[in-house]
Amino acid sequence: MLTRREFLGTVTAGAALPLARFQNAGTNEWGAPVFDLHHHMRPQAAANLAHVDGAGITKANLLTRGAADDQVKAVNALAPGRFTWFNAVDITRPDAEAQLTQAVKDGAQGFGELKFHVAADGPELRRMYALAADLKVPVLVHFQEVDHFDGEGTWSAGYAKTFEAILKAYPKTTFIGHADAFWANVSADYHNEAAYPSGPIARGGLTDRLLSDYANLYGDCSANSGNNALSRDPSFTPGFLQRHQDKLIFGSDCSCSDGHGAGVSQANNPAAARLAGKCVARATLTVLESSAPPAIFRKIAWDNAHGLLQIPA
Ligand SMILES: [Zn+2]
Ligand SMILES: [Zn+2]
Repeated sequence: MLTRREFLGTVTAGAALPLARFQNAGTNEWGAPVFDLHHHMRPQAAANLAHVDGAGITKANLLTRGAADDQVKAVNALAPGRFTWFNAVDITRPDAEAQLTQAVKDGAQGFGELKFHVAADGPELRRMYALAADLKVPVLVHFQEVDHFDGEGTWSAGYAKTFEAILKAYPKTTFIGHADAFWANVSADYHNEAAYPSGPIARGGLTDRLLSDYANLYGDCSANSGNNALSRDPSFTPGFLQRHQDKLIFGSDCSCSDGHGAGVSQANNPAAARLAGKCVARATLTVLESSAPPAIFRKIAWDNAHGLLQIPA
């Protein structure tokens, strides 16, 4: 792999390489191509491209909700080959399985994100875990116990108490963990005190152990939750990335408009003010790049998503 400087060197040395050919082939400002697993689809097709191009992202996975075919087609027409998609529907409805099965037939490569006011081990999510295994697609779940604003309520509640039993009960389901409770539990001393705990990480946390012990669990580094966990204790991060280099996947969950922090980057979440005015994608790629050697960065930013989604890199 050429570094950016080496690549620019070759160009100035006179090799007539068309720049455009390289934009999607791995030479960018991050030193490796980047796949964003957690890109919420924006209504305007061009707005999706504006974020990925602005943040130096090569390809992204559109998280869609409900009927999304036409919008996905519009994005793909604008940028062929640069977007995959997941789908979510209201999992409390009796026809949720039929709808998600149809979405996968139509090309969706996973379920997600699933973010509902239900228990992580409740009947609604259990149906989805089983269906994901049947259809051989991963399921991306938002785990959150602490409100960001009064009266918000919990999402996929019970992660710390019940999720290990779920990993055991559904060995053929590929789970992708995401959000506050998943990431706060990298620290062994966490008991739902805050959405985004700061300070040193007590080693041996639940999420660290589950990633080691269960082949069917992956981690999505997106959002303030992922960024916070990877930023709060610099003595923890390199070892964590090393241990789980085959299980972690970069994602942004960024809502900024231009890939540089314009607009609103964390959907006005008051608890995530530390990233206000910043592009979450850029902030997390920066911490990954500075905490992992290039070979591990490349796995987390690019290779692992392709393996998980079984698509060519
Ligand atoms: Zn989420
Ligand atoms: Zn952004």
